[in-house]
Amino acid sequence: MSSAKRKITIVGGGQSGLQLGNGLLSSGYEVHLVQDRKGEDIRTGKVMSSQCMFDKALSYERQLGLNFWDKECPPVDALGVKIAAPDGSGKIVLEFNGLLDKPAQATDQRLKFPRWMQEFEKRGGTIEYKQATAADLEKYAADSDLVIVAAGKGEIAKMFARDAQKCQYDAPQRALALTYFKGLTPLPTPGVVFNIVPGVGEYFVFPALTTTGPCEIGVYEGNPGGPMDCWDGISSPAEHLAKSKWILDTFIPWEAERAKHAELTDANGILAGRVTPTVRKPIARLPSGDVVLGMADAVVLNDPITGQGSNNASKCAKIYLDSILANGDKPFGEDWMQATFDRFWDYVQYVTGWTNAMMQPPPPHVLNIFGAAQTNDVIARRFANCFNEPLDLFPWFAVPEEADKYLKSLAA
Ligand SMILES: Cc1cc2nc3c(=O)[nH]c(=O)nc-3n(C[C@H](O)[C@H](O)[C@H](O)COP(=O)(O)OP(=O)(O)OC[C@H]3O[C@@H](n4cnc5c(N)ncnc54)[C@H](O)[C@@H]3O)c2cc1C
Repeated sequence: MSSAKRKITIVGGGQSGLQLGNGLLSSGYEVHLVQDRKGEDIRTGKVMSSQCMFDKALSYERQLGLNFWDKECPPVDALGVKIAAPDGSGKIVLEFNGLLDKPAQATDQRLKFPRWMQEFEKRGGTIEYKQATAADLEKYAADSDLVIVAAGKGEIAKMFARDAQKCQYDAPQRALALTYFKGLTPLPTPGVVFNIVPGVGEYFVFPALTTTGPCEIGVYEGNPGGPMDCWDGISSPAEHLAKSKWILDTFIPWEAERAKHAELTDANGILAGRVTPTVRKPIARLPSGDVVLGMADAVVLNDPITGQGSNNASKCAKIYLDSILANGDKPFGEDWMQATFDRFWDYVQYVTGWTNAMMQPPPPHVLNIFGAAQTNDVIARRFANCFNEPLDLFPWFAVPEEADKYLKSLAA
């Protein structure tokens, strides 16, 4: 780099924006962050995610010295699947559990973002508190070498055109809810339990760290119009907790047992909403002709069913950081922006494909794999570790013929 520092403005201080911003500051860039909420408002506000992150994504945080919760955050050591009987009897018809090679962690973003904002300022970054509009970007583009929009599900992401060719859906595929529990009965091996209730939805639950200490987070994924699509009109935390337990009592009794004495971690440990899985074009042109680059959820938003959004955001931040550093003193033109996004898409298209596929009932070859995993630990472990490295699902998990081949090779 030349002696004049290059200036980068990042709109949105979440997983990707703060990770990238802190990384750039450590590499000698001038970084300006535009963030819509103060740290204290984030910390005392509503939960935003279940944010379970696997080792590879965590390693990128560690490389940047952002791993402040390694000691405090309870480890997630395994990932298991349980499928309920379709007849509503509340019995489990299929179950397996695979150990993760390295633990995952879910640190509440209400803890993480304010701490990373502090760190960002400590490293010399400036933060402007403002809900940026598309019009504001002109000013940032005029006085920065590069503007990146990392605003997640924020309205401003709509300035990036939807890429119809890369989108499989145009409406939400699940009614989502989060419940942060304390007092849930722990599992012998702490891990994710991914419960599937055919025709109704999914419920996954795992240990995490929240503002009040260790907890367990339950994520509810209800099929639209079905009995788990039941959050409209629920307004108080007590009603949310009661509805969470009603779902478990009615469809997932083995999880109801664990949650019998559970309470909310805090009145804001709840969330309900919907997400439309959307891939957008990565570059937006402003009226002045300047261009800005989108990152992570702002341009590739998936349903949380595979728990990959924060992982994608970390991996995107790593790719963008490396690409900015490699660009040296050269301009951040449209070709560079497209090539940078393409590097992310080369990876994330597989996560998007897998996540979109998970919106449908498991096809026969997946049920065969799950069935075999019940008695074959190699398969159970491989599937669990694919949440860390989803590329390893391809092709044996994704392609029916490859699944057959793989299962036969293991049997032999
Ligand atoms: C119910 C649910 C469960 C989830 N569970 C998981 C999980 O288990 N594992 C996982 O990996 N992912 C999970 N995710 C997804 C994950 O939380 C996101 O994918 C991840 O946080 C995306 O990072 P990001 O940087 O793109 O956006 P965010 O982390 O959302 O950050 C965006 C930031 O931009 C700010 N902002 C928005 N608009 C503006 C504006 N106009 N001006 C200034 N600032 C703005 C926001 O306040 C926020 O701070 C879940 C999501 C949901 C909804």
